Amino acid sequence: MTNVVVVAPHPDDESIGCGGTILLHTGRGDRVHIVFLSSGELGVKSMPPGDAGRAREREAQSAARSLDASGVDFLRYPDGKLSSHIEGAGAALARIVGRETPELIYLPHEHDAHPDHQSGLPIVRSALRACAGLKPTLLTYEIWTPLATHYHVEDVTRVMGRKIEAIRCHRSQVSQFAYDRAIRGLNLYRGVTAGACRYAEIFQTADPHCAEHPQAR
Ligand SMILES: [Zn+2]
Repeated sequence: MTNVVVVAPHPDDESIGCGGTILLHTGRGDRVHIVFLSSGELGVKSMPPGDAGRAREREAQSAARSLDASGVDFLRYPDGKLSSHIEGAGAALARIVGRETPELIYLPHEHDAHPDHQSGLPIVRSALRACAGLKPTLLTYEIWTPLATHYHVEDVTRVMGRKIEAIRCHRSQVSQFAYDRAIRGLNLYRGVTAGACRYAEIFQTADPHCAEHPQAR
């Protein structure tokens, strides 16, 4: 059994970026825990932020159940401002990583156009500096901005229907933007160009240490 942690800056990133891969993990008995850095409270045009955050947390719980995740944590850092909370979010994530002891961490790739998605890697690196002895592999997923190159391909054909169901659990988001159609298209493209299969998710690796902190303490 592999312990897996998925880091999602907002509810829906987990299902969009690696929902199929999560289902493959949970289908073979791996433990997958999802950590939401923000609750995406600015992401529902028709609702004030407090209501939107609570609604999106309910949607995230529903998606996590449909992905058979072992559990979720909501860190509730401010949507749109994660880059101002790298160390705080890193410390909060470190407590979860210390408890879950993941061999694998999934997170958004660092070249995504959304600033909160770019903050995922520095937050994970900050957390790992506080987790001496843990050496998880980092695999980065695509959300808004497609990856230019990839390291790993996962054939998600047999779970693609369930992945789309998980994306649709984020009803407030899918009602504003057809993520389900967009991601079916992206994963179809990846299947043809990277996976020699019908639907695929692709991942890049990331170094767990940055230049200023070459060694984990
Ligand atoms: Zn996001």
